[in-house]
Amino acid sequence: MADLEHFRMVIGGKPVDAISGATFESENPYTGRPWAVLPDGGTEDVDAAVAAARAAFDGEWGELTGFARAALMRRLGDLIGENAERLARLEVNDSGKLYREMLGQLNGLGGWFHYYAGLADKLEGRQIPSPNPNYLVYTRREPVGVVAAITPWNSPLLLLTWKVAPALAAGCTVVVKPSEHAPASSLGLAELFEQAGFPAGVVNVVTGRSRELGAHLAGHPGVDKVAFTGSTATGRAVAHAAAENLNKVTLELGGKSPQVVFADADLEAASNGLVAGVFAATGQTCMAGSRLIVHESVHDDLVRLVAERASRIRLGDPNDPDTEMGPVANRPQYEKVLGYLETAKGEGATVAYGGAADTGLGGLFVKPTVLTGVGPESTVVREEVFGPVLSAYTFSTEEEAIKLANDTQYGLAGAVWTKDVHRAHRVAARIRAGSVWINAYRVVAPSVPFGGYKSSGLGRENGVEAVNEYTENKSVWVELTGGTRDPFTLG
Ligand code: NAD
Repeated sequence: MADLEHFRMVIGGKPVDAISGATFESENPYTGRPWAVLPDGGTEDVDAAVAAARAAFDGEWGELTGFARAALMRRLGDLIGENAERLARLEVNDSGKLYREMLGQLNGLGGWFHYYAGLADKLEGRQIPSPNPNYLVYTRREPVGVVAAITPWNSPLLLLTWKVAPALAAGCTVVVKPSEHAPASSLGLAELFEQAGFPAGVVNVVTGRSRELGAHLAGHPGVDKVAFTGSTATGRAVAHAAAENLNKVTLELGGKSPQVVFADADLEAASNGLVAGVFAATGQTCMAGSRLIVHESVHDDLVRLVAERASRIRLGDPNDPDTEMGPVANRPQYEKVLGYLETAKGEGATVAYGGAADTGLGGLFVKPTVLTGVGPESTVVREEVFGPVLSAYTFSTEEEAIKLANDTQYGLAGAVWTKDVHRAHRVAARIRAGSVWINAYRVVAPSVPFGGYKSSGLGRENGVEAVNEYTENKSVWVELTGGTRDPFTLG
């Protein structure tokens, strides 16, 4: 274990081991070898983290003004920028994602804390006119309390930030539980909170191999709100657990997002958007544009363009700046993706490109895959693959395109490709999804709300809206006359 990097959890502002002393190793999916040793925490560590978060909420942090919180958050944002390269390396080692993508994410991540710092000192209430002139009524935006932030293995720090930044702006404290498949980067980031000057216990991170950790945290009586990103199945379990405590919950779940391409679209641009949508990040993104719904007259041309570009995608070492697609992030996910390819072929799909593992590279590589000959009932069209697999099928009318786009349990994102401005907005309005790009794909920003319709989630992350998810709204009534009233009637 001498050459492995060692990490410790952060609880109450201190680096700590698991109470049991247990550890586990995180595997680098490119080399297939362990690269880090981390505390294998248990439910008792979750309890300690929740207690630390509560103590911080009731203590020094709870007394800070929004202006003071904003100053700390700005400092943290700067520190993330200064540590971007180191944090990006941790992400690459843990998840096999491209260094070039993760460095880009990390260079932008501080911007999320800066954006929410800008909101921390602007959480205003309202003065509300009352029908009874004897009362002054105003509202206060108060932090909801202790937040459980449970994150998945794809883009751990970005998805953690989407929760922690608005939570801190609102004045909450947080317990983060990163995925057992990619836990190290969250511990790397946690160290920066102390450097930025945050009081102890404001942000705590618990790691462990057992999925019981997340379940224990989601249903913890000491938690006031649960913010979760992950699969729809786990999201349902989280919602049940939160409901037991009648807690607020936000869920960012899976997707099966449509890219609708009309006959008048710029096919070069659309094929580039399709590559960005489903092959970037090896397709392991919640917003993957994995369903290509294309007008029948341009189907063959567009599939040829995408397959040709897919054939040129450079697979390889995620640390190599020339690499365009890294491995799948872990073995269960790799086997899941290959299983979907076999199912698709068994159901009669045609492989326009890819369709198999790329075994020449050593790691968990799957070829970028374009499937045709599928339809709305195909398993690969109905279920989230979470890998580099595009399924293409056709429509003939705009009405049919919209029907096919919405024929899914999911509703996270989608795209419309057309040069007709009227049609672009008309179709965007009718796609039942939280984000729709017109002639673009896979763009996000701190200021723009993101989240899902239907089985893709509950609530919104990012934007001004996200802070509302972390605040309670209190109404305060002030009697102005000093008089008394009939105590047996409603005021
Ligand atoms: P997952 O649902 O298996 O796990 C997510 C997190 O939940 C992990 O930290 C896990 O340990 C924890 N967990 C496991 N069981 C739990 C329980 N009963 N209660 C509470 N927490 C529990 O997902 P994953 O495999 O890490 O990530 C892949 C999935 O996440 C994909 O399906 C993808 O679509 C989805 N995802 C969605 C978004 C989005 O923003 N909508 C973003 C990224 C990933």
